[in-house]
Amino acid sequence: MTNVLNRRSFLASALSTSWLASQSLMPSETAACEPPLTLDIHVHLFGVGEGGTGCRIAQPIREGLQFRYVLALLRLQVPGQTIDARYEEVLAEQVRGSGLSQVAILGQDAVYDRSGQPDWARTSFYVPNDYVFAVVARHSESMLACPSINPERADALQELACCHAKGARLLKIHPPTQGVNIADRKHAQFFRCCCELNMVVLVHTGHEHSAPVIDKHLAAPSRLELALDQGCTVVACHAGTGWITDTPDQLPEFVALLKRYPKLWGDTSVLGTLGRVRDFGRLLEHEELVRSRLLHGSDFPFPASPAAFAARLGAESARQLEQETNLLKKDFALKEALGIGRASAQRGYAVANVC
Ligand SMILES: [Zn+2]
Repeated sequence: MTNVLNRRSFLASALSTSWLASQSLMPSETAACEPPLTLDIHVHLFGVGEGGTGCRIAQPIREGLQFRYVLALLRLQVPGQTIDARYEEVLAEQVRGSGLSQVAILGQDAVYDRSGQPDWARTSFYVPNDYVFAVVARHSESMLACPSINPERADALQELACCHAKGARLLKIHPPTQGVNIADRKHAQFFRCCCELNMVVLVHTGHEHSAPVIDKHLAAPSRLELALDQGCTVVACHAGTGWITDTPDQLPEFVALLKRYPKLWGDTSVLGTLGRVRDFGRLLEHEELVRSRLLHGSDFPFPASPAAFAARLGAESARQLEQETNLLKKDFALKEALGIGRASAQRGYAVANVC
């Protein structure tokens, strides 16, 4: 285990330099002349529970504009097919056409009550880990499982061991929608186990606009310190960003933490959208130390908006990027045009696959 941890620590620090340019992290089975492998580390699995998937989406979300927009955009309502099965089909099609080597498929755990039991009334959406593993098993050449474990659940440690045994090397926590304070000392043991199992911990940070928030302060990057102090490799999803109207501004907190913890990364998921233009720009204008710690993520199925970046890219480039109908490809192409795409996707692959 020590050797494994030392190897990841070494690679993490190596990855944050210009080391990637030498492309020395190619898996041994990859021929030397092939390009390094790439990963989108933030792709959502969704479902409404049709066909026994176990997924749930609360009624207010199902009736909301964003949900209906995604249904129409991905043409998820097809006669003779469940929404859940159709979503998997569209996702697999888009992954195949994305140009990326792999995508990480995210589950979403429930809210838990004080006794560690699921609180369905407060759970806005839910994607069970069993369903994540079932979907990934059907597309194992291109999908990695990222189950979700709320540390508040009574059986969190058993679920962690179970997910690890099934091959997961990533896990996701969404504090503002799952109502969990990951800075609470009682979770130190959970994070120590994550570290011992060499599981990369993805945590939502920054402001959430796609699901009901229980407490926005739970998304503060400073709350990652407990997990980092236990030795975990942590990915701050969305890098602590928000809209220009959001308060407090959590981005400086993420950047300060990045400088203190070499095993902290940020992902670029949802940063290609209109609301994040300002904060994505702030990240891109930071020194190499910050940019070299960003991992590519899309936040599929939420689409990127290249037109919003016309001032940075030029109107014609933005217009051309807008034409792309594959959402994963569109997001990746936008980030490549912004100078942060391919290297960040290669870093993501390395962080997720080195174990
Ligand atoms: Zn997300």
